[in-house]
Amino acid sequence: MNSAIINELFSVKNKVVLVSGASRGIGYYIASQLTAIGANVYGIGRSALDKQSDFEYIQCDLANYPQLHESVDQITAKEGRIDILINAAGISLRSEKNVYSRSNFIDTLNVNLVAINDCCRLVSDIMKDNGGGVMLNVTSIGSKLSFPENPGYLASKAGLAALSKSLAYDLAPHRIRVNNLAPGYIHTDMTDKSFNNPVLSKERTDRMMIQRWGTVHDLLGSVIYLISDASSYVTGIDLFVDGGWTSKGL
Ligand code: NAP
Repeated sequence: MNSAIINELFSVKNKVVLVSGASRGIGYYIASQLTAIGANVYGIGRSALDKQSDFEYIQCDLANYPQLHESVDQITAKEGRIDILINAAGISLRSEKNVYSRSNFIDTLNVNLVAINDCCRLVSDIMKDNGGGVMLNVTSIGSKLSFPENPGYLASKAGLAALSKSLAYDLAPHRIRVNNLAPGYIHTDMTDKSFNNPVLSKERTDRMMIQRWGTVHDLLGSVIYLISDASSYVTGIDLFVDGGWTSKGL
């Protein structure tokens, strides 16, 4: 196989891509990198974008359905299609030790699961009309493993992992693939506190086969694989990019 065929397989050139959670962290990095390799990227996030970007940014609270609907309509009106949806938006609201917060649980489910489902549903209608597409939802190793004091996050990510499989099933006849990217510990704002705490940081590194925290860059290859034709026969899977965390025994 020559390199032109390989390049074609992994190409996202001129694809219309919607990335949720693009104001910072994983979403911002992915949106920026996909733009750099020729994709036509729209990023959405709740806050105003406070850094330079080459992609188009729309300020939108994903959990506000009318706002989300309007943002998706705005992109479709301009482009006529959305080829790829990447949902990186997410929140993690840790509770105080031994204190269960019902509002944290509801707020987390509302963003990480209900709003992501809304986004997938709105975009799937557009993809159906245009002959297909690809969706990638960012879950977590917490979709499979237990961690302390954050039941809403774990339930939302396990739910999202299942939601993607359900969508993969129902949307396959419409030529829409849906997969999960499940990161381990990646250094972003979300994890900055434990990254900078030597005890917590080491506790986490000790659970990894590859003995270092992940970076946003470590996710990029897997993202490109899962949204491009390179994964044309792959749907309904969880791809764990976690330095070996979920496979480590002793
Ligand atoms: P982050 O730096 O905290 O970024 C989260 C992004 O989600 C921000 O752009 C945020 O926008 C957006 N967001 C949150 N609520 C939103 C809403 N209601 N409407 C629109 N946008 C919203 O976190 P990250 O580390 O990049 O995480 C990205 C995804 O990866 C999340 O789903 C997270 O659960 C998952 N993940 C992260 C790790 C990790 O180690 N970092 C590990 C596993 C999974 P605003 O700032 O504008 O609100």
